[in-house]
Amino acid sequence: MSEQLLPGDSRMVLFPDDPLAAPADAAAFVAALTTRGLLGERWRDDRFLVGRRFMQEVVFVGCSPFLRVDPRDDLRFCHLQLEITEQPRFLRSADAGRPRCPECGGEMDESDSEAYRCHGCGRELAAWQCRWRPGRALHARSLLSIWTLQRGDARPTEALLAFLGEQLGGAPWKTAFLTP
Ligand SMILES: [Zn+2]
Repeated sequence: MSEQLLPGDSRMVLFPDDPLAAPADAAAFVAALTTRGLLGERWRDDRFLVGRRFMQEVVFVGCSPFLRVDPRDDLRFCHLQLEITEQPRFLRSADAGRPRCPECGGEMDESDSEAYRCHGCGRELAAWQCRWRPGRALHARSLLSIWTLQRGDARPTEALLAFLGEQLGGAPWKTAFLTP
């Protein structure tokens, strides 16, 4: 199940540090995020308009950007998407660069579409097992994406990350920015 990305699309993704962490009750999780004012009205499928407190949940860095929040069919507007999958998914940003070996720290090269090989120790690892630059790759069952936000634009508040953690039994959450 891969996301169809459009050219120029970028998103900030919040995800639990534990790849297997997921809400026991997805509907209750949506309800909690809606009550908090992060999620607004459900737009389509797993996509939501921004909620009334959205601007208090995200810190904008530098000059506050012009955010288009009105729905458009091409999906190029600021909205949220909540994806929960049975198995963890690995996603990386186009600017992720080459990963490092978690064992020896050596550079790794893609040996085929699924695996990476270490120059140092020769280990072959799946992409999700490699060490990626922080914030540029993720491996998770639960993804909360905020579309059209770009790296350097914004970050979630500590309060939001803490709230998300509480919803999933205390698992800490992290942030990544993905560009296609
Ligand atoms: Zn190695």
